[in-house]
Amino acid sequence: MRAAVNTLTPENKPVQPRSIEHIQRPVTIHARNETTQAGVFLEKHFTSSQRIRRASQVWAIMWLLALASAFIPIAHFLLVPVFVIAGPTLGYLRYQQQHIPQAVEGQCPSCQQHFRLPLDQRTTLPYRDVCPHCDKHLQIRALDHDA
Ligand SMILES: [Zn+2]
Repeated sequence: MRAAVNTLTPENKPVQPRSIEHIQRPVTIHARNETTQAGVFLEKHFTSSQRIRRASQVWAIMWLLALASAFIPIAHFLLVPVFVIAGPTLGYLRYQQQHIPQAVEGQCPSCQQHFRLPLDQRTTLPYRDVCPHCDKHLQIRALDHDA
């Protein structure tokens, strides 16, 4: 099996995969008693076909688990209906997911250093984090929320 390797152009610049679009949303970065800085909120955007594929995958996994749990005595009375219902439910929820937060990038208002903070999939704006350089508390807000 081939290991996943980042594709590099002759100029050694990473190539973004064409199937996945990345979206950058402007944000403001606040720290107590400091000048607000601008930053970007990076999200992975899924196309319609990617959303269908992602939804189908989770649906198939749930129904395979339902099939597998049918062979477990007694527990199958609970597990089979739970996995059968979870398939379309989780599939629908996954289909609804158009963006996945990836990272926040910007300059710390306190120490002026550039940072990139990886984000959890469920992160929504506004959110709080800590500067990786100076440990100062930061609040990241969507730009349109400040208006
Ligand atoms: Zn800092």
